[in-house]
Amino acid sequence: MWPDSSNDPVFEMIGREVERQNTTVQLIASENFTSPAVLAATGSVLTNKYSEGYPGRRYYGGNTVIDEVESVARERAAALFGADHANVQPHSGANANVAAYLAVLAPGDTVLGMSLDHGGHLTHGAPVNISGRTYRFAAYGVTPSDERIDYDQVRDLALEHRPKLIVAGATAYPRIIDPAPFRAIADEVGALFMFDAAHIAGLIAGGVHPNPVPYSDIVTFTTHKTLRGPRGGAILCTREMAPAIDKAVFPGLQGGPLEHAVAAKAVAFGEASTPEFADYAARIVGNSGVLAEGLAAEGFRMVSGGSDNHLLLVDLRAFDAELTGKLAQEVLDQSGITLNKNTVPDDPRSPFVASGVRIGTPATTTQGMGPEEMRLIAGMIGRILRRRDDDDAVAGARAEAAELCGRFTPYPPILG
Ligand SMILES: *Cc1c(COP(=O)(O)O)cnc(C)c1O
Repeated sequence: MWPDSSNDPVFEMIGREVERQNTTVQLIASENFTSPAVLAATGSVLTNKYSEGYPGRRYYGGNTVIDEVESVARERAAALFGADHANVQPHSGANANVAAYLAVLAPGDTVLGMSLDHGGHLTHGAPVNISGRTYRFAAYGVTPSDERIDYDQVRDLALEHRPKLIVAGATAYPRIIDPAPFRAIADEVGALFMFDAAHIAGLIAGGVHPNPVPYSDIVTFTTHKTLRGPRGGAILCTREMAPAIDKAVFPGLQGGPLEHAVAAKAVAFGEASTPEFADYAARIVGNSGVLAEGLAAEGFRMVSGGSDNHLLLVDLRAFDAELTGKLAQEVLDQSGITLNKNTVPDDPRSPFVASGVRIGTPATTTQGMGPEEMRLIAGMIGRILRRRDDDDAVAGARAEAAELCGRFTPYPPILG
């Protein structure tokens, strides 16, 4: 019936990617290992179905099962975060944000969001992004002294710019974001408030970070970062906002939903509502704290002095003024440790070079690594970067990384 693809080299490539994920240390803060159940739903025949519309209101026939699946996903998402309404169709976090803007803004409207070079996301007004091209963004940042969000500055800028929408949330911010002062400021200036929980949705679901839902008109998030589901996005909102949000996602922005991803999101929401997941979320944060201590002992400086979430922003300049984020990423990659370069607040270097790295603990924590392994990894990072010109040291580190990962293998090779 179908051509024989069993020898398609793509499968050999997938096999090598399973091998890479199994044998190198994954420290990218926005990545995780999904469960076999989530993978199974993602790889299901639901990918074959067209289901434009929403449960009970589809354009095509044959959607009885799809309606059940999407209804379960919506109900679980709303229950998990205590929201009135959930839209589980956004293909990604970026799409969730663009749909949210489409729902409440007109082109040219003013929005207040977090500055990109202080930890905000591209979709919070970057000039190259549709957000920055369509709306007028003003940006708040972190204080120079403690490198935390300056709520007084947020208020001053809100009073000055009178935004229609205030956006909280970040992609490289190691501290808790308190939704309460944002809500108060939004109320004071008559703005709507949106919380982008892309990175921390799993920490919120696990009860270790404050839930922004009671304070927000809209909460967007990704399902594949700390939440540990399939790659995708979702939107939570109030009852009043629900019709506008649903209309913005479809037909405003997207066509047919990816119902295989929606099914996998439902499975992930189910997993995230268990006591085991709450324990997992607490261990992510615990590991991040131990890793920060270990790296500080190696001579690195943590932006803001530490972490209360799943990530660390490491300023490399105190360790070695010559060492760029770009070089650190490359050397560590060769040594079997995967992380990403990142600018630090007010970084003199460009984002392509950067003076820092971002390090996250969601994936290693899923594998079962704990404080002992975090101390080991901190020591490896210090040693590799100190001896970065020594090829033998790099090769030795790669073997050490493989040995460590061999004790915490997330997937059997067959899952490729
Ligand atoms: C990751 C992220 C997004 C975008 O998610 P994608 O799925 O990559 O589109 C949006 N906002 C924040 C704060 C993020 O960290």
